[in-house]
Amino acid sequence: MKQFERLAAFTANKMLAFRMKIDVLTIFPEFFKEVFDFGIIRRARLAEIVEINIHDLRSFTTDKHQKTDDRPFGGGDGMVMKCEPIFSAIEQIVGTCERENYPSGTKVVLLSPQGKPLKQAVAREFADGAKHLILICGRYEGVDERVNDALVTDEISIGDYVLSGGEPAAVVLTDAIVRLLPNALGSKTSAVNDSFTENLLDYPHYTQPRDFRGMEVPEVLLGGNHAEIERWRKAKALEKTMKIRKDLLK
Ligand code: SAH
Repeated sequence: MKQFERLAAFTANKMLAFRMKIDVLTIFPEFFKEVFDFGIIRRARLAEIVEINIHDLRSFTTDKHQKTDDRPFGGGDGMVMKCEPIFSAIEQIVGTCERENYPSGTKVVLLSPQGKPLKQAVAREFADGAKHLILICGRYEGVDERVNDALVTDEISIGDYVLSGGEPAAVVLTDAIVRLLPNALGSKTSAVNDSFTENLLDYPHYTQPRDFRGMEVPEVLLGGNHAEIERWRKAKALEKTMKIRKDLLK
């Protein structure tokens, strides 16, 4: 981004004063120490497009052992995340733990393999519609179901596999949303050609050198015929989508 563009983006966002606020609830706050300190997310934080706060769930406990998990009722393996610290956190951060009284644009998200699958369109909906996201990271066997029943507005899964905790999922969700916020990408990059935006995967990209170990950059990209390049890229995107992700074209 050029200097004046950076300044313009910054001033525009200054007037909006943090377009989005994200609060993450976790028992491992250290996990997030640096993950949001790189590239687009870092720039978006510096430009005050997004504010990201990490909260240690232990700080919302009231017992002397700061217990955030306990044995499951009904028996079985493992531990379950307790609901009290999560309710206290939501009460403090949102101002209420009555879901119908959340301020508009407030989304309390439980990261969970049982949630709605995260797709580009889901990230887009959050980016366009949410002002305040609270992300709850589960651990162990999961979170006491009463959190889901009473507090959660959106249960989101990042894919059909089981992670050992919601923290990596919170990072994935945050990244996917923040890069879609207005001005986050800057003028040199844009999301319009990204994979999934048009139900297509992205086209292949090449940069210097023209010839690397005998592998040459496709001729069409060197000619400067923009219409032809555009056609080639569309065809390549379609070809790859047909080959790898036919389901997207339906
Ligand atoms: N017993 C649960 C899995 C618990 S995994 C089940 O089978 O449904 C522990 C935590 O990791 C979950 O509470 C959730 O917060 C997180 N997690 C695991 N897989 C995830 C996924 N695919 N997407 C989002 N969060 C996930």
